[in-house]
Amino acid sequence: MTAYPHLLSPLDLGFTTLKNRVLMGSMHTGLEETRDWNRVAEFYAERARGGVGLMVTGGMAPNREGGVFPGAAGLFTPEDIANHRIVTDRVHQADGKIAMQILHAGRYAYGPECVSASAIKSPISPFPPKELDEAGIQKQLDDIATAAARAREAGYDGVEVMGSEGYFINQFLVTHTNKRTDAWGGSYENRMRVAIEAVRRARQMAGDDFIIIYRLSMIDLVPNGSTFEEVVQLAREVEKAGATIINTGIGWHEARIPTIATSVPRRAFAWVTKKLMGHVGIPVITSNRINTPEVAEQVLAEGCADMVSLARPMLADAHFVAKAQAGKAPEIAPCIACNQACLDHTFSGKISSCLVNPRACFETELQLHPAQTPKNIAVVGAGPAGLSTAIAAAQRGHKVTVFDKDAHVGGQLNLARQVPGKEEFHGLVAWFETMLTSTGVTLRLGQAVGAEDMAGFDEVVVATGVQPRDPQIPGQAHAKVISYADLLAGRATAGQKVAVIGAGGIGFDVAETLVHEGHSPSEDLPAWLREWGVSDPGTHRGGLAPEGPQPAPAARQVWLLQRKAQALGKGLGKTTGWIHRSALKMKGVTMMGGVNYEKIDDEGLHISFGPSGENPTILPVDTVVLCAGQISERGLADQLQAKGVACHVIGGADLAAELDAKRAIDQGTRLAATL
Ligand code: NAP
Ligand code: SF4
Repeated sequence: MTAYPHLLSPLDLGFTTLKNRVLMGSMHTGLEETRDWNRVAEFYAERARGGVGLMVTGGMAPNREGGVFPGAAGLFTPEDIANHRIVTDRVHQADGKIAMQILHAGRYAYGPECVSASAIKSPISPFPPKELDEAGIQKQLDDIATAAARAREAGYDGVEVMGSEGYFINQFLVTHTNKRTDAWGGSYENRMRVAIEAVRRARQMAGDDFIIIYRLSMIDLVPNGSTFEEVVQLAREVEKAGATIINTGIGWHEARIPTIATSVPRRAFAWVTKKLMGHVGIPVITSNRINTPEVAEQVLAEGCADMVSLARPMLADAHFVAKAQAGKAPEIAPCIACNQACLDHTFSGKISSCLVNPRACFETELQLHPAQTPKNIAVVGAGPAGLSTAIAAAQRGHKVTVFDKDAHVGGQLNLARQVPGKEEFHGLVAWFETMLTSTGVTLRLGQAVGAEDMAGFDEVVVATGVQPRDPQIPGQAHAKVISYADLLAGRATAGQKVAVIGAGGIGFDVAETLVHEGHSPSEDLPAWLREWGVSDPGTHRGGLAPEGPQPAPAARQVWLLQRKAQALGKGLGKTTGWIHRSALKMKGVTMMGGVNYEKIDDEGLHISFGPSGENPTILPVDTVVLCAGQISERGLADQLQAKGVACHVIGGADLAAELDAKRAIDQGTRLAATL
């Protein structure tokens, strides 16, 4: 008897059956653009082997003008079709099913050739689109239909027509971007025509026994977005036009409301999909922040949808479904929704991967083969770098002992998980604990070790992490000065007026912790929706609350400071930095750059600005929190080197600058692959 009866039950689509209710949602990984088709095939085949019911590829352009960026992959030539065959064949050999997403970016296409319903530039692109004429619209629709036919020729089991997230089809649907006065604009019936025609022509070209998913924007989260009556009307028309399944899209890319970040509550938008249930006769998929089999099962059991879409969780663990099926859910590597190695990579032109699973998209390169000669390995430091090394080395058959002076594993993750909005880090630490047990790693916690304790080990890995940098501010010994570690660990408390010195990732985390009080909105959906101004699209167009964001009052008055004379938060994640900045602005945090720290005394923090120390000011704070970055903790590494004992130094102990869990886990796993 499975714990996930809904999730693991098959879905009969008439002409074909999906073996369970899990869809791997579309993600742009950048793999197709490498044209290393073996690598692309392995990425998808690994997930097919992991048991997922149906996968959707990253968006494929139907034509050059619709590509997300110049050179975006698509099925343009017979050679492209043959290359995609390599992928679909490998997936089918692994007993999987795969659909190709057809993504026409419209005005989001990053290039001067972009086209749309009207010539209105998107706020997130520098390129104004050309308004399409009648022939131009017909061409786009024919290209979408041709892409569907070519997908079938390439062996795909279906296509997903991308109609949400503010892309081309979505741009026709709403008056926010469609100001046309011809038969493709004006009334909703006219604005829907592109969506309906795209599905109808795709069906006509690809045949009946072919999956067509239509991704429908259920809550646009932009001004003048769709009403829910319009969503239902469109869903019914799309069904009539030949769609097999309706998938859920949440929010346009230009929306200023987070929809998938860590701080978004789990299953935050399943209620929106649920509103559509019963209005159409075809299966409906829900999406966004569903990252465990428990949550997925609950969503299905509550009737929110017929199927769930998990995208990033399939990067974190290709075997999500197989582990759920085998009763090994705690071994599923959790997606913590950080975006650090997936979306942030995509938007920096890098291949996607995953913070918790560096093998994602690197399946052919980073392999953990059984060790030829099992070794006795010591890992000192139970933070993300050390734990990743230990688990991967043990999986390879080595005998591994982990030492840490702390009584718990997790290192800096134990601080991160105290931050409101970062509750997912609890799951990551729990997963490390599970994996340490299941791989048979020996733990020696609560004891500091020295070079002498390393005798008898074949390999020594030093992952001793970081220690806070001393900013050497006059008066920092004052009782009102505390470290971020003491604050987050609950060893120190802050007063009502607080200055935070340093505005890196930790400074921002500390500021968010300080302004927050009580229950985290990330674990309280109604509070979170209120905080960001999300309303029911059945009541307000696009799901935007007319009163806007209504954050709870800040618990403290906070100043967040840095010495660099630039906007704060520039070094934060590309796709999440804006969320942290907006969250702090909403709470009234004062952010200051170009600051000199003069001294700290009973009056507060004395600062001035610029190279010549202008505008001296006293911030009347009763607490100063130091978040001035890190330096490597190299005590053990230095000891070992002095004694001539070879060791591997990784993570923060190796390089503290710009250290994050992504680099630590990647470095640890890669080292383990070579031991
Ligand atoms: P960080 O990002 O390097 O930031 C250090 C901050 O301290 C900067 O604002 C820096 O700005 C300031 N600083 C540096 N030297 C100073 C000095 N001598 N005196 C006063 N201020 C000084 O380090 P972090 O905030 O400690 O974060 C560590 C790592 O954790 C980061 O690499 C980050 O990626 C990661 N992290 C990430 C997240 C995330 O949300 N993705 C969250 C937490 C942590 P000025 O030099 O301009 O003053
Ligand atoms: Fe999830 Fe972060 Fe991995 Fe992306 S990088 S898949 S958000 S854990």
